[in-house]
Amino acid sequence: MLENCVDVHAHLTHPDFQADMEQVVQNAREAGLNKIVVNGLDTTSNRQTLELAQKFDIVEAALGIYPVYAVHPKLPADFPLKIEPFDIAAEIAFIDEAAKAGRCVAIGECGLDGYWPPEELDSAQEEVFEKLIDISMRHDLPIIVHSRKREARCLEILQALGARKVVFHCFMGKFKIARAGAEAGYHFSIPATAHSSTGFQKMLKELPLEQLLTETDCPYLSPVRNTRNEPANVVNTVKLLANFKSLSEEQAALKIWSNYKLLFGA
Ligand SMILES: [Zn+2]
Repeated sequence: MLENCVDVHAHLTHPDFQADMEQVVQNAREAGLNKIVVNGLDTTSNRQTLELAQKFDIVEAALGIYPVYAVHPKLPADFPLKIEPFDIAAEIAFIDEAAKAGRCVAIGECGLDGYWPPEELDSAQEEVFEKLIDISMRHDLPIIVHSRKREARCLEILQALGARKVVFHCFMGKFKIARAGAEAGYHFSIPATAHSSTGFQKMLKELPLEQLLTETDCPYLSPVRNTRNEPANVVNTVKLLANFKSLSEEQAALKIWSNYKLLFGA
């Protein structure tokens, strides 16, 4: 059985996990996970994330504001996603306080999304992202970045602000941007769907082993279509990495785990 696996990007606060949370955490333990970093998205899920970290020794909290939610008061009335309103400035202050008190191991999920919100809200998204980067830097915490269709801009902002501890989660941009990120010392967490994605496979093969991490983004991005994803599935990425880098599965898991420990200070 595998040991020392880690999921750096999970959404166990999602309603899909409400009925069988204990079992999902147990499955993760049995699959060999040492840690699950649950990422918050808004006021409600950030508090639930902190509760989960209190309840389960295997769970650590990352607190953030999902980039689409970061501009929710400014979205058009016919915007297709339903978003529960919250006070963004108050949430940023809450995250800062929690980081100061050592209640979270990272800032995230946050970043920029060029898929859902209209382009004229880019600068408003960037404003929130920059505030969260500032919090991560002041408290020396990693920042977990969503960069959908804004990969180059995310990298540009992070470098301009001098961010050092960065995880690009589920990075789908051009490989040369990933390479530039890795050269800047940034990390990339590869989801459990990598077996069916040439982009993620290229990252596993060609980025330095030191810059790689594993994630699921569960309940999303399941390796099996139309099923719920869960943290135990990070093992898929570990196996693929072992294969590509000619390592044993145990070695691959241990390498990712040591990357996690170095970055998250575990
Ligand atoms: Zn996510």
